[in-house]
Amino acid sequence: TVAMLGEVVGLEAPHGYVTGGGTEANIQAVRAARNLSTASEPNVVAPESAHFSLEKAANLLDVDLRLVATGPDGHADPEAMARAADAETALVFGVAGSTECGRVDPIPALADVADSVGARFHVDAAFGGFLLPFTDREWHFGHAGIDTMTIDPHKVGRAAVPAGGLLARSS
Ligand SMILES: *Cc1c(COP(=O)(O)O)cnc(C)c1O
Repeated sequence: TVAMLGEVVGLEAPHGYVTGGGTEANIQAVRAARNLSTASEPNVVAPESAHFSLEKAANLLDVDLRLVATGPDGHADPEAMARAADAETALVFGVAGSTECGRVDPIPALADVADSVGARFHVDAAFGGFLLPFTDREWHFGHAGIDTMTIDPHKVGRAAVPAGGLLARSS
């Protein structure tokens, strides 16, 4: 299943596992970034359009969540996110298909934001992961320096609830 999910999102030899939902996958992505970070007070920088599971993750894992206003088009604003990120940023978070409006953040630009502060980069494609391969948007592992991604088989993959997926570029 992980190999198949990797194929869908442009990741050769993927690491990861089938989770008990997108919420768990987002929690694990934040946990991995927090544990790999050397920051004393790690923070996560995300657009305000991020799914509410991210607030649960930040709360459970005791990391500072910096929600950044989206631009006028409702997408993450990379410049504003860059201003919110600093040396304590463990993770930059992007959304590839918001649940309510299907909005896809500028993923390569957000990967650059993460790279500029040495943070990891996570893409939440819980909802969009099975739709976006059929569009010309830039959102998958092949387009940008993405470390981890959430893709939910139970959303558009027609699998049983609560099957979620977490993919990672490296172990
Ligand atoms: C549904 C969803 C989640 C959470 O997934 P669950 O399987 O409900 O836990 C996270 N992010 C996005 C974008 C979603 O659509």
